[in-house]
This record gives sequence, C-alpha cells and structure tokens, in this order.
Amino acid sequence: MIFMDFETVQQQDKAYLAGTYRRFPVCLTEGSGATLKDETGKEYIDFGSGIGVNAFGVGDEVWKNAVIEQVNRIQHASNLYYTQPQVRLAQLLIEKTGAKKVFFGNSGAEANECAIKVARKYSFDRYGEGRYEIVTLKNSFHGRTIATLSATGQDALHTNFMPFLEGFTYAEPTISDLERHLSPKTCAVMLELVQGESGVRELDRAFVDYVAEICKERDILLIVDEVQTGNGRTGKLYAYQHYGITPDVVTTAKGLGGGLPLGACMMFERTQNVLVPGSHGSTFGGNPVCCAGAYSVLSRLTDEFLLEVQGKAAYLRTHLNHLPNVEKVTGIGLMIGLQIKDRKASEIAAKCLERGLLVLTAHERVRLLPPLCVTKREMDDALNILKEVLS
Ligand SMILES: *Cc1c(COP(=O)(O)O)cnc(C)c1O
Repeated sequence: MIFMDFETVQQQDKAYLAGTYRRFPVCLTEGSGATLKDETGKEYIDFGSGIGVNAFGVGDEVWKNAVIEQVNRIQHASNLYYTQPQVRLAQLLIEKTGAKKVFFGNSGAEANECAIKVARKYSFDRYGEGRYEIVTLKNSFHGRTIATLSATGQDALHTNFMPFLEGFTYAEPTISDLERHLSPKTCAVMLELVQGESGVRELDRAFVDYVAEICKERDILLIVDEVQTGNGRTGKLYAYQHYGITPDVVTTAKGLGGGLPLGACMMFERTQNVLVPGSHGSTFGGNPVCCAGAYSVLSRLTDEFLLEVQGKAAYLRTHLNHLPNVEKVTGIGLMIGLQIKDRKASEIAAKCLERGLLVLTAHERVRLLPPLCVTKREMDDALNILKEVLS
C-alpha cells in the first residue's frame, strides 16, 4: 500500500472519478468501532457509519472472521449452484421476521427493484394487465436506478433522465391524500417508515395503521423500504415492528452486510410464490462472502442487544435535546435527525468534521447514524463536539 498525502488523493479523485459525489475533505484509512483515522492519524468519531452500513463499526472481529473464513473457502459461485451462507442467512431472516421467502441482490436499489417487480407480477397474476400503479410518498427515497428514482417522490430528482418509468404516483403521508392517489390501477403502496434521505422523518402511527388496513382490504401490497431503517438501526430488528404491522414485502440493505454490499427483498404470506424461475436474478446477489458477514451481523441482533441499542438511543436523544439551538430531535432509535435553528446542516457537518466528528445531513437536518456498537465514551465525545459547534 502506497500512502498518498491528502492533496494528491483529492487531485486524482477529481482527475479520474466520475464527478458524482460531493465529498467531505477527508480520506479515511482505518479504524476501530466508531473511531476512525485519516492518513495523518487524526481521529474521528464516526456518527455516519458509512451511511448506516457499518452496523458493528470498523474492524469488528466477529464479522471479519466470518468474512475471512468464507473468503478462504470460496468467494463466489453464481446462483447456478447452491451455497451454504445464502441459505443460512435466508433462514435466519425468515426466523426473525416471519417472512416466507428472500431474494438477495447487492444494494438497496436492487432490493427495491425486486419489490417493484414482485408488486407488478403479483397483480398481473391475479388481475391481468393494467393494475400496475405504485403509490409512494412525497419526499421518499428509494434509490438511484431509473425504476427506483421513478419511485422516489422528489421532483428535484426527476430531471435529466427522462422519460422515467411510468406507474408511480406520490402522496403526502396523510390519509386523505393517500386516498386520493389510490385507484383501481393501484397494485402497491411503498414507503419508508422513517424517511431517511429527506430529513429523518418518522411516519405517523395512525397513517401507517390506515395504510396497512386499506391495503389488506383492496388486495394492494404494502412494501416497506427498510434499506436504512432495518437491521437494528431503530432499536428493533426492522422498523415495521415498532408499528405493529405485517407488510407484504420488506426490502433492506445498508446495515445488513455489515460493510459488504448486500440487499434483500423479503416476501411475506401473500407474495411468497410470485417469483418463479426466470422472473428475476442477479449475478452477484447473495454472494457467499457478503452473506457470511451478514449472518454474523444478524445473529448478534438479539432482543437483548436491541435493548442496548434502545438504551443508547435514549441516552443520546436526551442529551441532544438539551444542546443549544436544537429545535427538534427526530427519527427512531439510532436513526436521528436534528432540526437546528437558523444554521445550515452542511455548515454544521463541516464544523463537526474539523473537530473530529463525522455526521451526515438529510435535506435541512443533521443526520446521525452511529454504529450500533457505539460506546458511552464515543457518545459523550460526540455530544461535546456537537455542543461546541452548536453554541
Ligand atoms: C440508501 C437507500 C436506498 C438505496 O440504497 P443503495 O444501496 O444506495 O442502492 C433505498 N432506499 C432507502 C430508504 C435508502 O435509505
């Protein structure tokens, strides 16, 4: 490994990489848990966890051993053959959720692509052509592929790539507006229970209850996008468990692989037999190394551990609520949004970075997604930095 100084990395990134990212001015090189280092050895407390991906932080021994053990056996086999990690992980997901079948892809967008195909085929199998519309919510985020961008209810993202995929309509998260968007053409409603990218906004319980009920009544599928909220992030294994609903399809990704790319589309009772040979697939999907890592993550998300996550979340939220200029603390569990008075979230994130704290933004809010293994000391250090920056 040749170490480059930061300026060289920045210049070469600009020269050679597609200009898709506005990056923070730091190059991360190593770390342990929620404490990371750049190439100069400067330390950062990580309250972003790679956008909710590194569930057990960086360098977690259990995860590393699971991954290394699988790399030493076989790194990939293709879905033309059986592999044990894939089966083991699917079984564990099903055991913990009540889902009936799982399809593995490589990302959140891919998990959602699968859900969209499942919704359309479910309806086609039962009702024939024409019942293909999916209602999603305003300010939702479902991914960057053409289909998942089409599903994303943000006008600002519906530019440049026309035509988008037809068959999506965007409702406000209110009973009356949803009602207005449902039609005989509707095959599914797709939503995030806590909208992540658009500001960490949790949906209202009465609204979610209503959606679940109306979907059942009209044989419309309820798809819950748990790409960000899933895998312990909110203090339950999946956020739908806070709401006491049973969705027809749940998608997840980010934290599932513990740092390796893995997405899952889980199908419940009504949707379990929709996919058949030839109807969907993925070359890398369910890669044995990713699945072995995911198994080590998921098997440790026990009720006991999730109670600890809830405790950490309560501790952070209490203290965050008392910081200067914090108007509101949103979200559930360790998926936290901060509404700050009169300051831009991007400016706060930049100031935190200078002082050694990595935070994210989501529209006008600061977004905190610490790894689930974050320690009391790391939380206290982060709170001190935030206090300084917000004063
Ligand atoms: C991140 C995210 C996605 C997209 O996931 P990718 O892995 O980037 O494709 C989809 N839905 C939600 C709710 C997300 O937070």
